Amino acid sequence: MTPWGNDESGNLSADDAFAILANQTRFEIVQTLWELYEPDDPANVVKFADLYDGDNAVSFSELYDTVDYNDTGNFNYHLEQLTGHFVRQSDSGYELTEAGFEIVRAVLAGTVRERPRPDAVEIDANCPRCDAPVVADYENHHLSVSCSQCPGIWQNVTGEDGVLFTFPLPPAGLSNRTPDEVFYATLVFNLNRIRSFIDGVCPYCSGPVHESLDVCEEHDPRDRGGCPQCHRQHAVEVAEVCHQCKAVARGPLAIAILSHPAVAAFYHDRGFEHRFASWETFSRAQTVEESILETDSLRIRLTVPCEGDRLRLTLDESLSIVEAVQETSLERD
Ligand SMILES: [Zn+2]
Ligand SMILES: [Zn+2]
Ligand SMILES: [Zn+2]
Repeated sequence: MTPWGNDESGNLSADDAFAILANQTRFEIVQTLWELYEPDDPANVVKFADLYDGDNAVSFSELYDTVDYNDTGNFNYHLEQLTGHFVRQSDSGYELTEAGFEIVRAVLAGTVRERPRPDAVEIDANCPRCDAPVVADYENHHLSVSCSQCPGIWQNVTGEDGVLFTFPLPPAGLSNRTPDEVFYATLVFNLNRIRSFIDGVCPYCSGPVHESLDVCEEHDPRDRGGCPQCHRQHAVEVAEVCHQCKAVARGPLAIAILSHPAVAAFYHDRGFEHRFASWETFSRAQTVEESILETDSLRIRLTVPCEGDRLRLTLDESLSIVEAVQETSLERD
């Protein structure tokens, strides 16, 4: 397939990109252009659309003086290496491209001014399985949330230790936030990425997503440690993979379906504002019943309960809803 678009700056190979950046002076140039960039200036934000006349690029002499390199010829060589992909040259000087900004943002996300290893702390939220308070712990750039009483949703093979969720959060996410705010930020940050995967767009590189289903046909979940075949509590798992940047998301179909507008409407009609990127998604996923109706031409039934009513959804192998039936408590009785 011939790629659409004629942006020559995107034609850099990964080898070349790594080689260009593997130099301290070039990194300092990228960092300096970022430090001199003023995000509150609207001329900067929309500059690529030519809506403002202002050109806020950094002049060669200002860049050279700020980096403090002391060899004009060599400095010019390093700047030329960056120009085209990470740095753009305009009439008045130099500025970062989107790829240049992405490099700086990836580095900044991993840094913090505060202590990066807070102690485990109780959060103002309750376990969807047993209603006990939950505990959050931040380690290795991940937030793990566990129940203070039960083994949660995901157990290790022995079934002894469990968590409710573990999600990555760059140390930057801890800045100026209380533990409760970090807890909510982690859910928003990650579930919005998962929604982007579900919508077919890689949240890391914007590339296409390959979606597949992993169905355990002899599923037999136990209380602890999950099913002996698949080691999960849920029979149907959705895998989202970007082969461009190797980003992956895997999770229960019962969680993925909570991003569907039919489910949000069902909750909304009963007085609940359902937001996918929220803690409620975890609690509500625990109440969704799943069953496999047919395996030849795959049909999966998910039943979402709310206030005594039920939304019965039938999905095919592409996760399209082929049937949606609402059943009120009155109809059943
Ligand atoms: Zn619990
Ligand atoms: Zn990607
Ligand atoms: Zn299984």
